[in-house]
Amino acid sequence: MICQSSFGTLYLVGTPIGNLGDMSPRALEVLRSADLVAAEDTRHTLELLNHFGIKKRLVRYDEHTKVAQGDFLLGELQSGRKVALVSDAGLPGIADPGADLAKKCISRGIVVVPVPGPNAALTALIASGLSTQPFHFVGFLPKTGKKRREEIERLADVAATLIFYEAPHRVKEVVGDLAKHFAKRRCCLARELTKVHEEFWRGTVAEALEHLEGQEQIRGEFVLLVAPPESVDNSDKNMDYLVDNAKNLLDNGYSVKDAAAEVAAKYKVSKREIYNELIKKQREE
Ligand code: SAM
Repeated sequence: MICQSSFGTLYLVGTPIGNLGDMSPRALEVLRSADLVAAEDTRHTLELLNHFGIKKRLVRYDEHTKVAQGDFLLGELQSGRKVALVSDAGLPGIADPGADLAKKCISRGIVVVPVPGPNAALTALIASGLSTQPFHFVGFLPKTGKKRREEIERLADVAATLIFYEAPHRVKEVVGDLAKHFAKRRCCLARELTKVHEEFWRGTVAEALEHLEGQEQIRGEFVLLVAPPESVDNSDKNMDYLVDNAKNLLDNGYSVKDAAAEVAAKYKVSKREIYNELIKKQREE
């Protein structure tokens, strides 16, 4: 699709997930120069704009209004206006309808510019202590029991750290369902990221359930992370084990490439990760 030069631009602007100090100068510049700001919750975004002294026309764009408001925003963009899309927090398009608007713009030849910023999933992942590669972002699981359990079953063999979003009032219920399949896997509950009461709880999924059941009221925003199945958990400790396996193969005449491929296939892990780790170890020795 050729981009139309008379069209405006859609900016996908990342905003803080708690700590306003995470607002980037570029995000502020884009918000200041936009013709209008589209937001999930206009009251929430108004507070953000007020905090930074920005006065802008605000329009609602959320799950309930995405069809009608999407058409309106496309019209504005096709008339040459600059639209900044923000979500309640974090990156628009991640677990919110932002991706929908971006897709429609791209198919119509409207330029889409990402303005990166904080994101709850990745912020939680990097401090979780779990393997950061590969990861599988699930976002919100279905709200109802049966559908949720089916989805969890489908995730059982995914060879990656699983990342879930959940509302505080449903966290216990969801961890209960996760415990049915992943009881012994390591997990991390990342709560209130970047805020005053930021907290990382680490243990197995079964222990997480116990931990949550011991609490009368669960407050705050959560990201839940679950380690991959035991044999495919490529955390540091397991990575050593996998590399030792690959080294045995090297001793038996395998090439680095073939040893990495063999171990990767056996333990369902990334061939590239084993390969890189083997090369690194060889250089260190
Ligand atoms: N677009 C956002 C992003 O980039 O992360 C996510 C929006 S989604 C509608 C909201 C969910 O993100 C929350 O229910 C929670 O699971 C997670 N979340 C957002 N802010 C968080 C925070 N400060 N701490 C922990 N989880 C957070």
